[in-house]
Amino acid sequence: MTVKISQTAEIQKFFEQAAGYGNDDGNPRLKQIVLRVLQDTARLIEDLEITDDEFWTAIDYLNRLGASSEAGLLVPGLGIEHFLDLLNEAKDAEIGKTGGTPRTIEGPLYVAGAPIAQGEVRMDDGSEDGVATVMFLEGQVLDLDGKPIVGATVDLWHANTKGNYSYFDKSQSEYNLRRRIVTDAEGRYRARSIVPSGYGCNPQGPTQECLNQLGRHGQRPAHVHFFISAPGYRHLTTQINLSGDKYLWDDFAYATRDGLVGEVKFGEGAARGIDGRIAELEFSFQLQKAVAAEDEQRSNRPRALQVQGA
Ligand code: FE
Repeated sequence: MTVKISQTAEIQKFFEQAAGYGNDDGNPRLKQIVLRVLQDTARLIEDLEITDDEFWTAIDYLNRLGASSEAGLLVPGLGIEHFLDLLNEAKDAEIGKTGGTPRTIEGPLYVAGAPIAQGEVRMDDGSEDGVATVMFLEGQVLDLDGKPIVGATVDLWHANTKGNYSYFDKSQSEYNLRRRIVTDAEGRYRARSIVPSGYGCNPQGPTQECLNQLGRHGQRPAHVHFFISAPGYRHLTTQINLSGDKYLWDDFAYATRDGLVGEVKFGEGAARGIDGRIAELEFSFQLQKAVAAEDEQRSNRPRALQVQGA
């Protein structure tokens, strides 16, 4: 076929109608986006000769993806969330917003409103005592000149030894392994926690179903998520991925980046008053200065739990 049906003027007009271009109601921005989705979908169907069976299988897949709340998992799995980081970084670079700790994906498992502590805190509820390795995680929040930022908020969350997150895993106590720590007079934060485990997609879920078709695994290395914020500085969404994990550079969600590998040192806990082996991880963050007020805020993406002012 030489003439692409999807590119004809009639079809373009037809999709403009479908996208609401023929009326003055609704949301112009959404109309623009929907039109493009329709045009690109039609083009893809035609170019790749998508069969009816393939098309309706995809529609059924989307229904199952939504029903299992895994859309936020498929998106990093297919690299789109990492792409957003690269795109935003490229845009930042054009206007001179560079330097500091690299951003990386947030993932779908943040829960707002974690308890706030000044300077230091214990993050685990003790339910894995004797099973988990105690981890001391500490560092500073600095500006681009290396000067400490006092009163920065380090909002961090990570999985337990089974690779599960509190709130989503109802067997854990509320806000287990989720805390906000306000940096002290030296810009320092200190957390006593446990070494998290990496984790994988639900093997029965639609994300893994797609990855199987792509010949890919759905595993992540052990990691700790962070939101770092401070008045006058740009909000940073990032993660530390732990050294020594076999998936460190084979992360299905593409979150591991240069500059975000946390070197875990294992040793005896006696000096810290802990029996047996402990892990120590020192990691400091550097923030860019905020240019506009909204730079200080994290994105407004819908999250699991919305807490006013948290
Ligand atoms: Fe995670």
